[in-house]
Amino acid sequence: MALLPTDPISITYEPPLPVSARDQVNQTLRQWGLPLLPRDDTDRWLWRWRTPEGKFPKRLRKYFWQQHGIKLDPTLLAQLGQQVRAASSLPIPLLLQFTDRFDWQPGDFGDKGSCFWTTRAAARDLIAASGGHAALFYRADTGQGYARAWLVPVVDTLDLDLRYPDWAWVVFNAYGALTLSQVAHLLAQTLELRASLVSLTNEGQSDGLIYINHDVGYLLLPPHIPVPLVPDCVDLGILTSAVPRCSSCGSYLSKDQVQATSDLPELYCPDCSARLFTACPDCGSIVGSRNLLPVRPLPGLIHNVCHQCRTRNYQPCTCCLVYYDPALLSPEGYCLYCRYLLEPGPAQADP
Ligand SMILES: [Zn+2]
Ligand SMILES: [Zn+2]
Ligand SMILES: [Zn+2]
Repeated sequence: MALLPTDPISITYEPPLPVSARDQVNQTLRQWGLPLLPRDDTDRWLWRWRTPEGKFPKRLRKYFWQQHGIKLDPTLLAQLGQQVRAASSLPIPLLLQFTDRFDWQPGDFGDKGSCFWTTRAAARDLIAASGGHAALFYRADTGQGYARAWLVPVVDTLDLDLRYPDWAWVVFNAYGALTLSQVAHLLAQTLELRASLVSLTNEGQSDGLIYINHDVGYLLLPPHIPVPLVPDCVDLGILTSAVPRCSSCGSYLSKDQVQATSDLPELYCPDCSARLFTACPDCGSIVGSRNLLPVRPLPGLIHNVCHQCRTRNYQPCTCCLVYYDPALLSPEGYCLYCRYLLEPGPAQADP
């Protein structure tokens, strides 16, 4: 497996050209009676002012020559170059850090709501166990999280000729200010790899424990591998059968979640354990919510306590059988209410 650099890498992110500016370029091309450019980034065309292959006019001239055998007019190239330059945002300096410690807070990278932090927390354990990493992008100027994605080694599940690499990565589930395609192309550029869009599953599905956003990923391979050998579909091959599951709702549990509910009779997810179990306010032991019994430690206040605590700490009123703190009962064992009801009222005057 190719090792990922451990030190942060400085990269410059060139934001893509806004769609309105792309349309403007195509409008100009149409006026000149020329073929249009693809509206989205492709393997051969990137909507950027600058890439490692050069600035927009240079790449546009090359693209038209290679794709259409057309030599573009220098006046047109200059005009489009000016248009695109004016519409481009400044490059953003970023730091790229690879890590196999997934200890950031959800939301640090625009990833609030990611199910790998809630209902599928066990997925992070599995990604770590399979040699997976996170690619974390930070703003170099402010140090703030910018974007992130998962990287999982997949060479064992690929049906590649053995003469070809002994490693391959798949990148998937991008969060934050970069799309998956942008993350994949930045990684490919930085690590000198080729990124290919693939349909991605784990154990044949994309909505299992390892949830794959939009069912796709990018395969990162060394560029010398012939394109026809690059597969269209990749399976991550991460086994999920051994992962413990909640005995109530069936959701997968992370190690932390198993640990947190170790005093329960069976394994439960945080939601189910909160719904099904409560700590007795008197002794602190965890009991099934349905097994708690009401008592009145103070007049007007109702607590639910475990059976043991009710027997040990409370006493039923002789009349209404409601359990009270013994200090609230009369020497005869009556509660305040029953005493009030049983007390003879003021004597009635004879008519
Ligand atoms: Zn559950
Ligand atoms: Zn108790
Ligand atoms: Zn009573």
